Amino acid sequence: MKTEILYAPDISAKDQIARAGKLLKKGKLVAIPTETVYGLAASAYNEKAVENIFIAKGRPNDNPLIVHISDEKPLSDIAKEIPEAASICMKAFWPGPFTAIVPKSDKIPYSVSAGLETVAIRMPQHPVARAIIKAAGVPLAAPSANLSGSPSPTTAQHVIEDLMGRVHAIVSGDDSKVGVESTVVTFATTPPRLLRPGGITVEQLKEILPDLVIDQAVLSEPEKGQKVASPGMKYKHYAPKALVTMVSADSKAFSEYCNKNSEGYDMVLGFEEDRKNITLPFESLGKEKDYRSQAELLFARLREIDQKGYKNVVAHAPEKKGVGLAVYNRLIRAAGFKVIEL
Ligand code: AMP
Ligand code: MG
Repeated sequence: MKTEILYAPDISAKDQIARAGKLLKKGKLVAIPTETVYGLAASAYNEKAVENIFIAKGRPNDNPLIVHISDEKPLSDIAKEIPEAASICMKAFWPGPFTAIVPKSDKIPYSVSAGLETVAIRMPQHPVARAIIKAAGVPLAAPSANLSGSPSPTTAQHVIEDLMGRVHAIVSGDDSKVGVESTVVTFATTPPRLLRPGGITVEQLKEILPDLVIDQAVLSEPEKGQKVASPGMKYKHYAPKALVTMVSADSKAFSEYCNKNSEGYDMVLGFEEDRKNITLPFESLGKEKDYRSQAELLFARLREIDQKGYKNVVAHAPEKKGVGLAVYNRLIRAAGFKVIEL
């Protein structure tokens, strides 16, 4: 398939945005920039188009998609009901990196929800994403625009690497500022449950949802055969081809560990504070307490590991605070749940 590249650094790229909208309306697949990561979009009402997303990504078909909207109007077409707590969170966190799971309407095909009776909904904040949803005139089902299993794309170049020739168009916009996927909360159970940490933090959520439960899949590996509330969290994910080992320690203990084990690793993914003490090749995720910068840089760094040919990487685990929790959640999956606590 020939893939069109549509350049839309901002909403002044009217023709490109209109073209993306037209393709989506016709049931084509278009990768679009959002503030979290790039998404691979199709009309959420078009069963066939949605099935093609799974094929293009090589995504297991029991892993549901998120439906993206640009305003609240289509909510009543997408959801059977919006529980009060969900509605309060939508008002607080939309537009933004927050996804609510609620009971699904009949209009949403089961290919979107992977057979579940619930649907995930998000209103992105990114101006180009919003303009494309408006131009398409339908809600867009969109998972991250990477090949299944590889790190999510935060630049148009990442999408081109993974999906060139597999989708109809790629909208080339700016780099994703949040850098990790949205926070996912299900309201289909009481109390509400966090399934995936993201740009909206647990601390922010708890101000509104004091009884929020953190699903155990957020920080640990689901047991084999266990039924999981968040299908996406059970897969090995976000992983470079290199082996990644995550080490949870303060900066001093981390650098001592890296130097002592320098035979076993060929690269260190750490924080600015670690750099001066480390002898191995080093890449930085930003400052130890700057969780937003870590989130913004993480997926690009994971891709660079393979591009630079590293095989055995040791990564410094962030603190599980603020957006650091989302970084920890992605890194532990990139590491196949291999963590050394010092
Ligand atoms: P992605 O867009 O690639 O970040 O994937 C969407 C994420 O949302 C995956 O982790 C899914 O498992 C999760 N998700 C989407 N819909 C549902 C749903 N109805 N129930 C539970 N998790 C969902
Ligand atoms: Mg994904």
